[in-house]
Amino acid sequence: MQLVSTIGEWRAFCDAARLANKRVGLVPTMGALHEGHASLMRQAREVCDVVVATIFVNPRQFNQASDLALYPRTPEADEALARNNGVDLLVTPTVDEMWPAFPAPVATTVSVAGVSDQFEGAGRPGHFDGVASVVAKLFNVTGPCAAFFGEKDFQQVAVLRQMVSDLAFDVEIVACPIVREENGLALSSRNVRLSPEGRAQALALNASLQAASAEVASASTLRYRMRKVLETAGVEVVYAEIVDPQTLVPVGDHESGQKRALVCAMVEGVRLLDNGPVVVEGDK
Ligand code: AMP
Repeated sequence: MQLVSTIGEWRAFCDAARLANKRVGLVPTMGALHEGHASLMRQAREVCDVVVATIFVNPRQFNQASDLALYPRTPEADEALARNNGVDLLVTPTVDEMWPAFPAPVATTVSVAGVSDQFEGAGRPGHFDGVASVVAKLFNVTGPCAAFFGEKDFQQVAVLRQMVSDLAFDVEIVACPIVREENGLALSSRNVRLSPEGRAQALALNASLQAASAEVASASTLRYRMRKVLETAGVEVVYAEIVDPQTLVPVGDHESGQKRALVCAMVEGVRLLDNGPVVVEGDK
């Protein structure tokens, strides 16, 4: 595995790989790597010839300074995890390399309207502008590739698919399944901020998804079941919604078919996300 931190070295590596007819796989992360990130690296390894992983805690996507300051950083363990999961190039750019103007405003922002507006976009103003802007830059430096993202951040995948389609990036977005602990808790770098009690409470997110998918019903019945599980566990619900999996528009009670349940809750001050497939049957 090679380690680089400049845009020049990173671009040269990817250009050389394509020149040798190799398919490039990109795994963008913010570090504090866990088995969820490792699964993306392994999926990239399976279908690509070279795997490029990036670790960059992008300050532009944090709307709260405290969240950025508290974001876990484990560079040595990250390097070992990347090495053990088939990464060929690990890119760890500094903020100065990625956004030389920062903390002054960066002149260019990529903003994806519509699919960004609700849920994480509403709760974290500017978050998806920061995500779309940094991922656009990662795609521009990496060049044509397959890029692997986790369904854990379901809305993020929808935002990035829209961006790729609107701006004609030569990038195939590959959405990978959520990796969970045995008890059902979705792995997240933020879980390290939870106490043992908090981790137990956080199980309510997955439990709410299980309740929603247990029996087919109308969207509002599923929403009600999710909220009940979350409220019984005593977590602060930010949203619990049934949405169209492409547009993320909330599903009406007359609609039927395969949809997505999205849940967000605060546990011990940590914003936790989860989601899963559901089937709804509209009221006649
Ligand atoms: P992050 O470092 O949190 O920005 O995440 C980097 C990538 O890993 C994103 O595409 C996430 O969706 C993905 N990811 C994070 N947690 C998981 C998980 N539990 N299962 C699958 N993918 C994940």
